[in-house]
Amino acid sequence: AADVAWAQRWVRETARSIAANKEELTELDRQIGDGDHGENMNRGFTAVVAKLDALPEPPAHVSDVLKLVATTLMSTVGGAAGPLYGTAFLRAAKVADLPELDGRGVVAVLEGALEGVQARGKATVGEKTMVDALSPAVQAAVQAADGGGDARAVFAAAAEAAQKGAEGTIPLLATKGRASYLGERSIGHQDPGATSTALILAAGVVASE
Ligand code: ADP
Ligand code: MG
Ligand code: MG
Repeated sequence: AADVAWAQRWVRETARSIAANKEELTELDRQIGDGDHGENMNRGFTAVVAKLDALPEPPAHVSDVLKLVATTLMSTVGGAAGPLYGTAFLRAAKVADLPELDGRGVVAVLEGALEGVQARGKATVGEKTMVDALSPAVQAAVQAADGGGDARAVFAAAAEAAQKGAEGTIPLLATKGRASYLGERSIGHQDPGATSTALILAAGVVASE
């Protein structure tokens, strides 16, 4: 089940994966942004792991882990992604005040994250942002949960859809964020934020194995 121990493994695996893909994220951001997305995310998740390690007692609920991620990302990531991911994890935490999540609980967490990103950044699907990974992830999660999928199956469906969604940003014209300054020249490159979203969700699947 998606319990507190899973949430901690998810966050630690995310930190590992972001560190391993730091150069790729930065290179993507060099194409259509200012070349700092890998650094930004790595700084954030390194700080998250340090805070997890320093907790005086183990977190009781999934929400405790997600809240720690939210506040740490908000104060360390900077740029557009910091407040966006911070709000995503904060909204996700609001619906995860439980010792563990079932399939429906995972759906609620992902829906919360998407609402947070959209409340903060006002992007809709097709604008070449992290929404293009997260929105199909939510749709896939709903389908998997409707089909009776458990937490692990729901998260796996979401992660797969997020990866496809991230790849699907390549032909899109950016109309939000820094990449939108490039206009037509943003076409033909994968969005760094959608790519980091896919990595974050993939880490959740590794954490449930
Ligand atoms: P910055 O552009 O400030 O340097 P980052 O490089 O860390 O910040 O993050 C860039 C990513 O943020 C983009 O690839 C995109 O996915 C995401 N992003 C930017 N603006 C928005 C928005 N309004 N809504 C959703 N995501 C956004
Ligand atoms: Mg950037
Ligand atoms: Mg920047």
